[in-house]
Amino acid sequence: MNETATLRARAEIDLAALRANVRVLRARASGAQLMAVVKSDAYGHGAVPCARAAQEAGASWLGTATPQEALALRAAGIRGRVMCWLWTPGGPWREAVEADIDVSVSGMWALDEVVAAATEAGIPARIQLKADTGLGRNGCQPADWPELVSAARAAEEAGVLRVTGLWSHFACADEPGHPSIAAQLDVFRDMVAYAEKEGVRPEVRHIANSPATLTVPESHFDLVRTGIAMYGISPSPELGTSADFGLRPVMTLAASVALVKQVPPGHGISYGHHYTTAAETTLALVPVGYADGIPRHASGRGPVLVGGAVRRIAGRVAMDQFVVDLGGEVLEAGAEAVLFGPGDRGEPSAEDWARAADTIAYEIVTRIGVRVPRVHL
Ligand code: PLP
Repeated sequence: MNETATLRARAEIDLAALRANVRVLRARASGAQLMAVVKSDAYGHGAVPCARAAQEAGASWLGTATPQEALALRAAGIRGRVMCWLWTPGGPWREAVEADIDVSVSGMWALDEVVAAATEAGIPARIQLKADTGLGRNGCQPADWPELVSAARAAEEAGVLRVTGLWSHFACADEPGHPSIAAQLDVFRDMVAYAEKEGVRPEVRHIANSPATLTVPESHFDLVRTGIAMYGISPSPELGTSADFGLRPVMTLAASVALVKQVPPGHGISYGHHYTTAAETTLALVPVGYADGIPRHASGRGPVLVGGAVRRIAGRVAMDQFVVDLGGEVLEAGAEAVLFGPGDRGEPSAEDWARAADTIAYEIVTRIGVRVPRVHL
């Protein structure tokens, strides 16, 4: 038995699928460049191998939330354009400037800090001004935009920084035809036009995430930022399945059945006894639980391919394990249980788990814990 097969649980990461997905997305991007969003450890898939694979397939930018994530890519030897967008006061901005990372700036407080960092480093910072075009989260409000643009231009003239990008983020791109999509695009065009009139010459203007890349071509501008679709998962069931878009799920989550045993009828299963065996039956213990990211909310509902059929979790998901009722089926301990994957063997998808846990597939893959080794294929 090879080492991979003896692991309690593993997340297999199919980098060939990721590369193919990047090519599919590039083909849909109206000639725009593609930023591979590899924040949060590449949505749980492993940031460094995924970043490299995405670059091999033609991603010319990498995107992270925190500067620490961006710096970790550089520390691993990854070159090329990298942008981070989650501003935190007192962050490692000087290190980010020195590592040639594009930093997002949403307001004067951030601009002042990045100017100080660049002055200290003696290197011009690369900044991208973020506009709040309607998401109501990060980003500069239209009313505050003239002040921010003017201050950024002054710092640019002084040689302290370069405004490399103008960008924004959608609120409802995963809801087909939502009126806020067109409204945000209008505001974005106006804010970009204003900044350009004031002398900003951005390398890239961008607003599209995966759903917009797939379904809103007029949002592509110079660059699309794709996360979930690159990992082969549809951004929303409302838009279609991953297969509808020619995307292949990258992660397969599997575990080795730890124990198989017979129990009599009327046997309560797992904490709270929310499941009771109807007849004499065989139970399989699957050794992953909510500490590994299996949603406890999917207790009694989460689907698993085990012993040749997709079965539901019996009773509660515990911290490190859950139970499946095999009916009369006999199985050896060590048999494979596949929680989700691309579906080639009939296993459920991350989207199926999202439904079972009343959440989105983004959360299913990103929450898989550090105790589950990622095996990159
Ligand atoms: N751009 C930004 C600013 C994000 O925060 C994210 C992820 O939430 C993305 C792009 C990628 O979104 P998606 O995974 O829907 O492609």
